[in-house]
Amino acid sequence: MNPDFLPTPEAAFTLDTVRQASRLVKHIQGQTVTPALTKTDRSPVTVADFASQALVGYLLKKAFPQDPLVGEEGSAALQKPEERPTLEQVTAFIAQFLPEATPQKVCDWIDHGASEPAPRFWTIDPVDGTKGFLRGDQYVVALALFIDNQVQIGVLGCPRLPFQQLVGVQANDHSSDARLSGLHGTLVIAMRDKGTWATPLDGPEHFIALRVSACAQPDQARVLGSYEAEHTNQGQMDEFARRLGVKTEPLHLDSQAKYALLAGGQGELLLRLLSPARLDYREKIWDQAAGSLIIQEAGGKVTDLDGSPFDFSTGRTLKHNRGVLASNGLLHEKALETLRMMGC
Ligand code: AMP
Ligand code: MG
Repeated sequence: MNPDFLPTPEAAFTLDTVRQASRLVKHIQGQTVTPALTKTDRSPVTVADFASQALVGYLLKKAFPQDPLVGEEGSAALQKPEERPTLEQVTAFIAQFLPEATPQKVCDWIDHGASEPAPRFWTIDPVDGTKGFLRGDQYVVALALFIDNQVQIGVLGCPRLPFQQLVGVQANDHSSDARLSGLHGTLVIAMRDKGTWATPLDGPEHFIALRVSACAQPDQARVLGSYEAEHTNQGQMDEFARRLGVKTEPLHLDSQAKYALLAGGQGELLLRLLSPARLDYREKIWDQAAGSLIIQEAGGKVTDLDGSPFDFSTGRTLKHNRGVLASNGLLHEKALETLRMMGC
């Protein structure tokens, strides 16, 4: 079964672009993230971030030349003389995909993402979950199209999320198909009013519709949260689970891969609580755009910690929203009530 939105140029572009960027990032991870890497050396993710955004900038300019791109990265840091080796490394990786790449062109493609939100624009997180990328854990490439402050299309490229794991519990399950075993990555796409679908990142196209879990009992719920302690409040995560009566341990993993798991019924609640060290932290649009549509179109619900929907009209940051509560819908009110009782 194929989603009926696939023939639209925007949907085809988003899938193809995220597939290519995810493969590039996965390739860079394979080449640069080695056991010898020191804990403080972030250079592999710096290279991957810039390379991924440059590739997306190049592809968007070609496909939709009028459309602005709002990206996490800018080339200014990369243009400093001391960063020349990094720029050359980024260029060399991109040149394996785009032989015409030069350092100057790469900077131009990255800066195609320097735009501000407009009535119609795209947003890219070239590597979401950078710490997971460096640990060899979860990370994603996230691209979304906004029209009039609403996410229309969201795609997550999840190189480390096995396709069979994600679609394993879906009702229209074809995952026993031998051709699909051992496929290590997944692409997840949602289009407004058209549902959420997963297909292998590599291998033959094989779309399966994703649906959130039907679990309505808190004691059977599974809670998803950040791996990095400083991106959330671990103590409150535990207290939330205890008060709600959740029996299983929360699952901690990096990036919007969590949103894909929730959409696929592999969890019921997802929390981004405010870190005590950063109570003023507000979410970036590229960290929430694709993931939130993917959950909503799979039948779930996404709000901030106060129960308000995301207001994407406030620029690059969700200035009017605190944190994130996402759920399969059935447990949303109970979760909000628990958060209120905890004073979160
Ligand atoms: P996760 O892997 O789910 O923890 O999310 C990764 C995202 O957290 C990154 O894309 C960052 O933009 C974002 N982030 C960085 N600092 C914070 C913070 N203090 N609180 C919440 N999120 C943060
Ligand atoms: Mg991010």
